[in-house]
Amino acid sequence: MVHGVDIIYHLAAAVGVKLVADDPVRTIETNIYPTEQLLRLAAQGNVRKFFLASTSEVYGKRPGDAWSEDDDLHLGPTSRPRWAYGCSKAIGEFLTLAYYQKYGLGVTVGRFFNVVGPRQVGNYGMVVSRFAEAALNGGPVTVYDDGSQVRCFGHVQEMTRCLNALVQEDSATGRVFNIGSDQAISILDLAHVVIEKVDPSVKVEFVAYHDAYGDNFEDVQRRVPNTDRLYQAIGMRPTMTLDGILDDIIAWKKQTL
Ligand code: UDP
Repeated sequence: MVHGVDIIYHLAAAVGVKLVADDPVRTIETNIYPTEQLLRLAAQGNVRKFFLASTSEVYGKRPGDAWSEDDDLHLGPTSRPRWAYGCSKAIGEFLTLAYYQKYGLGVTVGRFFNVVGPRQVGNYGMVVSRFAEAALNGGPVTVYDDGSQVRCFGHVQEMTRCLNALVQEDSATGRVFNIGSDQAISILDLAHVVIEKVDPSVKVEFVAYHDAYGDNFEDVQRRVPNTDRLYQAIGMRPTMTLDGILDDIIAWKKQTL
């Protein structure tokens, strides 16, 4: 398949907190070996550009307000399967950058922060999709732990626009970029915003991590990107408001229910 290919967008992965908790073997095997194979084929062929979709999970549970690409990673212990996902994607990053250093392959790594939008399913985590669907079904909306966890949600349309611009940008070669919104919101506030938009009579239900993901689960308390490097390289970053993003998702969900 790589024959005659100019650019490879390697977006395939085992993804979603729930899937990682339920099937860590599949997660690790899916994320590492195919990346290795694709990079080798790309280096042998005439591939001009290789884009690796990585993830904010590589930062792990790093403290701090906003994370930058050269920050240290802060993964948890191997006894907790969640960290297998970030670790497997970090190996993919190391390998991708190594192909740039050793073989001059034109690589770019994008670390996606929480990506949302129409057509996203909630089976593997994906809180916005789950909240919208639960609220439209009359509730309750299930918030894990106390809902003080903080995330930033970027619309898939803007995220892919950034991805495409990065691939076309020569100065992005051999580098890693955060791709995400930097508008932070707590999960409990998110639940209230979704409920307000769909049906104010819907209730919030608090669920312990143990009941959602089983033993040994650890969450990331705060995840916010610094997107200055992205902006410097391509002159844009995701800016769509959460309001607009939620309206888009809820409108789509309404059509499918
Ligand atoms: N979450 C929640 N209820 C749900 C699904 C997720 O409260 O039904 C929380 C989860 O604990 C996490 C945040 O929402 O703190 C984002 O979860 P998601 O699975 O969307 O992505 P993550 O950021 O964990 O990769």
